[in-house]
Amino acid sequence: MHTVEVPIKDAKNPTTIKFPDRCVNCGKPKSVVMPMKLNMGVEKRGQGVLMDFPVPLCAECEKKEKRVTMVTLVPFLIAGLIFGVIAFIPAMLIAPEGTTPDTLGFPFVFGGLVGMVVGVIGGTIVEFVLKFLFAPAYGQLLLKRPLAILSFFNDSEDVIGLSARFTDKKRSLKVIFENDEVAKEFEKLNKSLA
Ligand SMILES: [Zn+2]
Repeated sequence: MHTVEVPIKDAKNPTTIKFPDRCVNCGKPKSVVMPMKLNMGVEKRGQGVLMDFPVPLCAECEKKEKRVTMVTLVPFLIAGLIFGVIAFIPAMLIAPEGTTPDTLGFPFVFGGLVGMVVGVIGGTIVEFVLKFLFAPAYGQLLLKRPLAILSFFNDSEDVIGLSARFTDKKRSLKVIFENDEVAKEFEKLNKSLA
């Protein structure tokens, strides 16, 4: 793994970074570019400024990238649902029954709440374990991806073989590569920006 930092001089006009013309994960000829965008946190003419950096991938790695969802988000949702239902039933049964029309639905609300919390925890544990199991096939950067439950607050862009996020105060973009050779090429290409 290799980390490269690209400085950002002006947050309103973020640096255009260049990638080598081959797959960032395996180095084979590129077949697609994955659009990556990070929010600079500033506005220009009333619009939020985004840093845009399309990342090249080969056809094989693009397929792999699509399968990552199958070993992270999908298991999280399925396991979460199963855990949630299993917790919902007993929680609903032990909840005190309401006596007034207003509290009649309490067991359902209580069961739903307990089910949701248990579902999120159970789903996250399953996702966490699966990431370790699949890291040898998908690369160690899989472990760095945010868990599904945290991805709403996500401040990084991740794709197979690459993870990018801003450093403190967004003065630079930190790019981690799985492939050392591609990382060195990337470093050379963007040296003039420093
Ligand atoms: Zn590739």
